[in-house]
Parts: sequence; structure tokens; C-alpha cells
Amino acid sequence: MRTVILGAAESGVGAAILAQKKGHEVFVSDMGRIKEKYKALLNGRYLPWEEGRHTPELILNADEVIKSPGIPENAPLVLQLKAKGIPVISEIEFAARHTNAQMICITGSNGKTTTSSLIYHILRKAGLNVGLAGNIGRSLALQVAEDNHDCYVIEISSFQLDGMFDFRANVAVLLNITPDHLDHYGFCMQNYVDSKMRILRNQTADDTFIYWSGDEHIGRELERHPSPALLCSFADKREEQAVGFPAGDTLCIKAPIPFEMPLAELSLTGKHNLRNAMAAAMAALAAGAPAQAVREGLSDFPGVEHRLEKAGTVNGVHYVNDSKATNVDACYCALDSMQTPVVLIIGGLDKGNDYSQIIPLVREKCRAVVYLGADNAKLHEHFDGLGLPMADTHSMPDCVAACARLAHEGDTVLLSPCCASFDLFRNMEDRGDQFKTLVSGMLPPSR
Ligand code: ADP
Repeated sequence: MRTVILGAAESGVGAAILAQKKGHEVFVSDMGRIKEKYKALLNGRYLPWEEGRHTPELILNADEVIKSPGIPENAPLVLQLKAKGIPVISEIEFAARHTNAQMICITGSNGKTTTSSLIYHILRKAGLNVGLAGNIGRSLALQVAEDNHDCYVIEISSFQLDGMFDFRANVAVLLNITPDHLDHYGFCMQNYVDSKMRILRNQTADDTFIYWSGDEHIGRELERHPSPALLCSFADKREEQAVGFPAGDTLCIKAPIPFEMPLAELSLTGKHNLRNAMAAAMAALAAGAPAQAVREGLSDFPGVEHRLEKAGTVNGVHYVNDSKATNVDACYCALDSMQTPVVLIIGGLDKGNDYSQIIPLVREKCRAVVYLGADNAKLHEHFDGLGLPMADTHSMPDCVAACARLAHEGDTVLLSPCCASFDLFRNMEDRGDQFKTLVSGMLPPSR
């Protein structure tokens, strides 16, 4: 069996190691440069690789290809493989074939990392032998090759779902479907919706499907394609069909296992995090966590870096790092959860954003808007008309200086940019880290 792996980062290298362990003839090919740490892992196992090119003769003779989620489905090489009838699958699909562990899978446009980390936190507290995989940390394939977990919490992106066929999620969570990555889906929302709904494929009556009832797409799709799984929806308020909702000051869950706790004990704040908490509680209960662990986990979860993360208070102004808000809906939720006037930092690499969704909230909550991007033209077009104080910046130091100038005591400066970061930063972590470093630099030295 010749298995070729396209893309030699976390998922590709994990897949290569697992494939080798299973006795496959393996070849790894990356169009870009492979990081030294991954080269060392490949070399240490005598796994052959190439970088800076894809050599057709070494790839088109594969029995199966495992593709990194970063390589588009319509890349010429991928189309060539498909034309030859060579299966092209994702690393998660491949890894899942080689384990019988329980699979708890989380997808959605926003909230995946927060919810996955929260479920993992609860399941560890419950004493389960659990791994956290997918877009977070070590790849599923590597963990299947080297660890022996009984269950996995897997954060799954739409790109990974596109390469999943026989995979079955024992517990599937679909948080929401809002426009994102449309540039990868022919600017067609339905293509993106179809991709997200693949999380339900192959679920049986023994499995659980958890979803947000307020989403405009999920309910309709379920009507069109009924699922045999136990359906558990959560809602922002008590609803007839929903089995999870806030009622008064209590979080109520009726299924898969009844559970209640005071809302005031939840460690994460904001309406969107309440949804994440309900989804996480239901998933953890479905996976076998006792109520006590769910309650404790929801109340002491510390949150995830770059998601509404407090970066410090300078001169009475609170700085919040939400660099992970790379689409409009995430920024909407961040703004919605703000309790003070906001100086909003917005901008970066636009993925086909429709800003009209946040305009009313910007009008209602923002004292000022600071643009931060290589090209701010589209932002000027959409936000200048609001008549708010505005600053146009192209670097984080200029941006933070402008915010400090525009904010009043008691305000919140919110970095929640709606956009990808690659125009000015290495990635969203780099953007958030630069923000936090500059804020720390303004703090008075601690004695
Ligand atoms: P993902 O992994 O799907 O990108 P994260 O948990 O990293 O999600 O959160 C990304 C951004 O989305 C953050 O800015 C956060 O404030 C926002 N967010 C988190 N949960 C939700 C949700 N349930 N609905 C909408 N936005 C959310």
C-alpha cells in the first residue's frame, strides 16, 4: 500500500508516522518549506520527503493520498489525483480507521476551540483517558500512533470534513454555520453548509448530535436529511424542542442526561460562551462524564488564549485580545458581550466579509473604530459613514497608540478584527501576542 501525504505540518507528519507504523510505503511531499522540527521527526524514522515541489511521478502512483486541510480541493494536483480515481482523504479520516476510541467531534464556524478545550477539560476532570486533537495541539494520527486513549475530543474544520467519508462521530457538536472561508467554497454559502453538515455522516441511533437551535441553517438541513442520532439542541432561552437552555438563573439540560447548575458559576462570560458551555456539558454527559465533573469543569475552565482574553487595564482602559475573531460573526459575539463603551480594532485580510451584520452594534457600542490592515479601503467604505472617531493604522504599535488616544477611562479596547491576520502578521497568535506585549509595555512596572 503506497500512501502519499501532501503537506508536512502537524497533521501530515502525524499521518506519515501512523501510516509507517501500519506497514504502508510512505512518501511525504510539501510545496513549501518543511519546518525543522517536522524534518527531524521524518528523518528520525527514515520517512522519505520532498519540499518546494510536488513531483508527479512520486505522487500519482499512490494507492491513497492524505491531504493537509490547507491544500484546496481544487488545487491542480488534487484534481489530477481525483481524475485518476485515487482517493484523497483527510488525516482525521485516516487516523480514525486505526482506533476504536470514542470520537467526540466539534465543528462550527465559531467556538470550536473554546468548546473542544472545555469538553477536554471536563473529561480529564472526570478521569477519562482522553486526547485532544484536530486543529488543536498534536494531530489525531500521531496520538493514535503513540498513545492509547479511550476517547478523543476532536476539533474539526470544514476543510477536514471535506476529506472525511467513512468517519463516524459518536458525539457530534455543530455550534453554528455562519459565512466563513467562502473564498474556498466558490463564494457559495450552501457549499459551506454542506461541508459542515458532513459531521453527521455515518452517525447511527447509538450516537448523539448536539447543535444550536438558533442557527438559520442547521434545523433546515436536518429536515432535509433526517438523522438517526439522538438529537440534542440547545437554545438561548427555553424552547419547546430544545433540551438545553437557561431558565431563570439556572442552566438546564434535559438530555442526553438531565443536569442543572447555577448560571453564575460558569467561568466563561458572554452569550456565545453560554452556548459553548451548554454544548460542552451535553457532549461531556453523552461521553460519560458524571454531573459533578461537568459542574466543576464549567466553573473552573480558565478560557483559551486569544479568545476574549483580558490583556490588562491601563489608565482605567481595559484591553481585550480577541485576535481569533477572524470572521464577522465572531466579532459580533464579542461586541455583544461588551459591557462598556468600546474602541474596536478591526481589519486585516478580508475573506469576502459582509460587515452589515455588525454595523448596528458598532453604532450602539463603539466610541471609536481603529482600522488595522495593509489595505483599509473596504473598512473606510463601510464604517466611515457612521461618523465615529476613527484611526487608520498599518502596524500594531500605531494601532495601540491610536486606541490609547481615543479610549476614555472605563472603556474597553477590543481587538476583534473580523479578518485573517496574514497581511501584517505571521498568524492570529502573532497579532494577539503583539497586542498583549504592547499593552504590557504600557502597564506601570510591578513592584
Ligand atoms: P474557532 O475554533 O471555531 O475559531 P474559537 O473558540 O477559537 O472558535 O473562537 C473564535 C472566535 O469566535 C472568538 O473570537 C470568540 O469570541 C468567538 N466565539 C466563540 N464561541 C462562539 C459562538 N458559539 N458563536 C459565535 N462566536 C463565538
